[in-house]
Amino acid sequence: MSTDPAEMLCKSVDERREELVELARSLIRFPTVNPPGEVYRPCAEFIGERMRARGFAVEYVRAAGTPGDSERYPRINVIARREGAAPGPCVHFNSHIDVVQTGSGWTTDPFAAAVTDGKIYGRGACDMKGGLAASIIAVEALIDSAANLPGTLEISGTVDEESGGYGGVHYLAERGWFSSPRVNHVLIPEPLNVDRICIGHRGVWWAEIETLGRMAHGSMPFLGDCAVRHMNAVLDRFERDLYPKLAARRTDMPVVPSGARHSTLNINSIHGGQTESQGYPAPVVPDSCRMVIDRRLLIEESIESVKGEVLELLDQLVNDRPGFRYSIRDIFEVRPTMADRNGPVARSTAAAVRRVLGRDPEFICSPGTYDQKHIDRVGKLRDCIAYGPGILDLAHQPDEYVVIEDMINSAKVMALSARTLLLGTHP
Ligand SMILES: [Zn+2]
Repeated sequence: MSTDPAEMLCKSVDERREELVELARSLIRFPTVNPPGEVYRPCAEFIGERMRARGFAVEYVRAAGTPGDSERYPRINVIARREGAAPGPCVHFNSHIDVVQTGSGWTTDPFAAAVTDGKIYGRGACDMKGGLAASIIAVEALIDSAANLPGTLEISGTVDEESGGYGGVHYLAERGWFSSPRVNHVLIPEPLNVDRICIGHRGVWWAEIETLGRMAHGSMPFLGDCAVRHMNAVLDRFERDLYPKLAARRTDMPVVPSGARHSTLNINSIHGGQTESQGYPAPVVPDSCRMVIDRRLLIEESIESVKGEVLELLDQLVNDRPGFRYSIRDIFEVRPTMADRNGPVARSTAAAVRRVLGRDPEFICSPGTYDQKHIDRVGKLRDCIAYGPGILDLAHQPDEYVVIEDMINSAKVMALSARTLLLGTHP
């Protein structure tokens, strides 16, 4: 029999296979749909009670007053902490418990957590209750493997990631839950594939541009000024001057898919003119047209320069185009973030992937964003990665699933990585 502690730890995860499957299924059965934020409390308490039984100190933090928080839909987060035999670093596993709406196209009950062909199906199976379950099993196996382990382990189940994280990680980070010296290393088991380590994400700027016109009778448009035509001029400038510039910019961030290594701009929506009443359009010249833009930024870009180039284009139209008037409103912004791939958590996780899967992990960045932004920007904690079992492309899709073998392997990786970090023996 082997006495290699790493090998014994992996074996201990293997022995918990059924337990891991049942834990993931139990988590999926809580329909924690956001919005509005259903059954957050029972789901958080389920996690908390489990961790309490394993010797963790458990706290529930309600993010009172954050978007969506109400008596009916309280924003309840759970944080479980267990201090080891001796002082040492704190390794924290953070998962969001909320899931997106089920939508249509399901061939199975999204909250039944059916097991078929080595996969568990359900909303949140991939994003990210499979990852949450794997991190809990990893931590439990680690604790049982050595009585004298130094350092501290934390597990959190946080809410509202799918709506920006304000009632979840952002709220907690503002209150010191994600800062040194309380926490030193963070792993977020988001679905980014079992052999990839995500070190960051691009930034976001959402804004609404409104062009203004003047109403007139639709039979005499020359007496008015059409806001939709003004918006068309904005789009023309975007096509002519902005899109080629964005496509020419390329980042050193290892974003996947590679198309997202450029700056991108999505026209999210355009609304102009009067709405129809009783299926009949109003015969008027529209005096307002609104367009929402979704600009994704690279780490090499500043949010100020990104906004500046759009404003410059709009101001040029004020000069070039008779009657052109606009306003612009910021909706949401996130700065890009990228951890050091040679930092402790990235390196120890990479070594664990090599050991468990027998191949080098790929270091990637996410094209979208996730809660790492709050840990980095608010908590000022840089040693943070995302690593988890789910398959990225399945997130938010109908018939979302998680592969059981991937959960087992990721649990081994998480257990080995945490062990290395706690012992301070990371490569
Ligand atoms: Zn997620």
